[in-house]
Amino acid sequence: MQRLAGKVAVVTGGNSGIGLAAACLFAQEGAHVIVTARRNETLEKAIAQIGHGAIGIQGDVSDLEHHAHLATEVRRRFGGLDIYMANAGVITLTSSHEVTPEEYDQQFNINTRGIFFGVQSITPLLRDKASIILTSSLAATKVLDGHAVYAGSKAAIAAFARHWALELRARRIRVNILSPGPVDTPIIGKLGITEQIRPEFLAQMSALIPAGRLGDVQELALAALYLASADSSFVNGIELHVDGGMSLV
Ligand code: NAD
Repeated sequence: MQRLAGKVAVVTGGNSGIGLAAACLFAQEGAHVIVTARRNETLEKAIAQIGHGAIGIQGDVSDLEHHAHLATEVRRRFGGLDIYMANAGVITLTSSHEVTPEEYDQQFNINTRGIFFGVQSITPLLRDKASIILTSSLAATKVLDGHAVYAGSKAAIAAFARHWALELRARRIRVNILSPGPVDTPIIGKLGITEQIRPEFLAQMSALIPAGRLGDVQELALAALYLASADSSFVNGIELHVDGGMSLV
């Protein structure tokens, strides 16, 4: 039995890393999947990889018109939505005394504002018992070098989730947070880690994680599937840490 048979799911930033793995799994489990991404070429590659009739909507989550367009398209094509995974995110690692206003604004515009207005825009379309999944980060609750702004931009998500879980309770809509620890995705390349130093970087990271390794996107996708499906029907307002135990140390 497919866990998401007939459900309609949106995954933002579903062209790469955790979002792409979740989109693939949701589609395999019977969902009609819509992924968003900034660039058309990566979107098309992702849609081909996801298969199962997945649809791509191009746009930037920091742009409110994108959210309005996405909502219009979901309504036109499906009439409503069962799963909204707000996954798109960016990170810049900089010591606080060197952070520029541009870096600050970029992370808050995408990681925080993008999630807030994405949920605001899509909520009228959500069907009763829908599931909202917000991708945060271990960094939201742990002090890590150079992470202050990123951590702040993710920490706000916990407050949003608490409010939305109660605001939407009459419709039985659940709101939960997926909080990854280090996962080997393209985001690591975006930290300025070159291919040359990548093995050393991964080894150093692995030593900090009780599991002794980074997470795999499939492990995050399975956790997202749990939160998306009726398997978690009595789970609301939680932060699910999928971090190999790193939040313990
Ligand atoms: P990734 O770089 O592979 O994926 C990020 C996705 O967000 C990409 O699809 C990218 O196109 C999209 N995106 C970025 N800015 C966007 C914008 N303005 N508009 C629309 N889409 C945008 O990285 P990932 O590791 O898969 O990251 C997914 C989420 O997980 C992010 O929110 C990230 O902060 C979070 N996270 C990742 C890790 C990790 O170690 N990989 C750890 C903790 C949290």
